[in-house]
Amino acid sequence: MNRGSEEVRLKGLGVSPGIVRARVVVRDNSLIEPETYAIRPSDVPGEHARLDAALAETRRQIVSLQNQIRVAAGDDADIFDFHLLMLEDQIVLDQIFEKVGKEQINIESALYQVINTSIEVMRRVQDPYLKERAVDLGDVMRRVLANLKPGAGESNAEHRVKHPHILAAADFSPTEIASMDRSLVLAYATETGNQTCHAAIIARSLGIPAVVGLHEFDGHFHTGDEVLLDGYGGVVITNPRPETIEHYAQIEAEHGAIREQLSHLVGERAITSDGQAVVLSSNLEFSREIDRVRQVGAEGVGLYRTEFFYLDRTFLPEEDALFEDYGKVARAASPHGVIIRTLDAGGDKLPSSIQHGTEHNPFLGWRGIRVCLEEAEMFRTQLRAILRASAEGKVSIMFPLVSSLEELLEAKSRLEEAKASLRSDGLPFDEKIQVGVMVEVPSAVMIADVLAREVDFFSIGTNDLVQYTIAVDRVNERVAGLYAPHHPAIVRMIKRVAEAAAACGIWVGVCGEMAGDVLSTPLLLGLGITELSVSPGQILPVKRAIRALHRAECEQFVTEILQLTTVEAINVRCRELALSRYPELLR
Ligand code: PEP
Ligand code: MG
Repeated sequence: MNRGSEEVRLKGLGVSPGIVRARVVVRDNSLIEPETYAIRPSDVPGEHARLDAALAETRRQIVSLQNQIRVAAGDDADIFDFHLLMLEDQIVLDQIFEKVGKEQINIESALYQVINTSIEVMRRVQDPYLKERAVDLGDVMRRVLANLKPGAGESNAEHRVKHPHILAAADFSPTEIASMDRSLVLAYATETGNQTCHAAIIARSLGIPAVVGLHEFDGHFHTGDEVLLDGYGGVVITNPRPETIEHYAQIEAEHGAIREQLSHLVGERAITSDGQAVVLSSNLEFSREIDRVRQVGAEGVGLYRTEFFYLDRTFLPEEDALFEDYGKVARAASPHGVIIRTLDAGGDKLPSSIQHGTEHNPFLGWRGIRVCLEEAEMFRTQLRAILRASAEGKVSIMFPLVSSLEELLEAKSRLEEAKASLRSDGLPFDEKIQVGVMVEVPSAVMIADVLAREVDFFSIGTNDLVQYTIAVDRVNERVAGLYAPHHPAIVRMIKRVAEAAAACGIWVGVCGEMAGDVLSTPLLLGLGITELSVSPGQILPVKRAIRALHRAECEQFVTEILQLTTVEAINVRCRELALSRYPELLR
């Protein structure tokens, strides 16, 4: 336990840049660890009385809940008997009171420490019954803690933090990141996660500094500790020493200077030193972020991930609501345009409005185009909305996770049906709307020549392509070290896709996170990629990289890279070339 003032460093993965120093708030399964503060000996009886009152209130709430459930579900209400018993466990209560008296700390902290120790012990035992009871115990503690807050009630089941802080938890879902109050949550840290999990992608997109994959940070920091989070280097430091703070202030100043230099490129074109233009567009997750895309000078939106509109709703959105959202993006992205990807639900993005059920391997399961083809009405609604938006500005459409020609043909035929229905309703849309396919499954790479005949463009989703090719879960921090966009297999796959596209005269872009990594820019350009869609924060660095490169040199570089047989060798060469052309971007 690090309850002293010693500096402690934890190493993880920096997935969203920025340096933040603030007090940390630790959340355990949506439970926030209470702050510890000293009390006077004369306060001890008052703390006892507070706990007694909170226990009585919790008992009242559980009994009332039990009665409601008994009416609706009969015997299921018995599960609350255990909750009630826990409230009366005299041995535990004695331990809590003893802690308050001996250590002279507030009752919330004593309660948390005692109960959490029991929960940890129960979780470690290989007995499913005890593991479930650990969850129940956590639930009871959450209620009691909520009732220890002045004026707390059932609606205030969680602690709400009112001051700016760094939020730490085992994990956050993509929707949780999206709904964070940016004025209060300055940065976040998690035990799990990886560069390309959707939570990290959103953090980058919204500019929330983040460090993930800290493994077990339990006991390393506690709510109220002062923490310095370095989203560049992937380090979280508790109780930073003055010299550490000074060191990081310098790093932040250097990054500020580079940002200032890059800002002069906003109005410049993404063009190589020998005049080869690259379409440098932005990825987008929320239409409300479209202004940021414009501010950084992106050439429109190369990937609009539409699933987040579905994720914060319990009901499927109506066509008009979707049309309004897509129309807004289409107008704002003008004159460049927006590529709207149809719903890519599944994996780590599960809208509650779609009945998903539990899957053993969600990333290999009901995901992407598979969901849309089965949920015909939902798909039709989205296709009609996208088509209608094409009358508001330049819109293209692309299908995610296509793994066979059949899927692509079926999706295209649904698109034709949606067009026909709009015609008969007399609603305008772009008859020549461009249709593309995301290449993100190895089977799609292998039949890229076949798919190319059916579409206007390819967009390579390297996030998934890497995951499926190397068989490395993109959200699992234990295998994060194996997640390698510069794997020789990936380089060869991109080459194959680019050649298939060139043979059919269609363009090919990359919209996975690899597109925003300046170490990969020479490789992608040399492989014949002509469009890069990156998170808004990477537009200017990638533009700078493109402008420092020569196309023929990139092609030569690829010839050399194709001779290399290991990830390490390719990484080394990519870094060397990048260092020789734009060293300031690699700090
Ligand atoms: C990808 O897989 O590279 C991609 C862009 O799609 P997503 O990250 O949303 O799965
Ligand atoms: Mg994908």
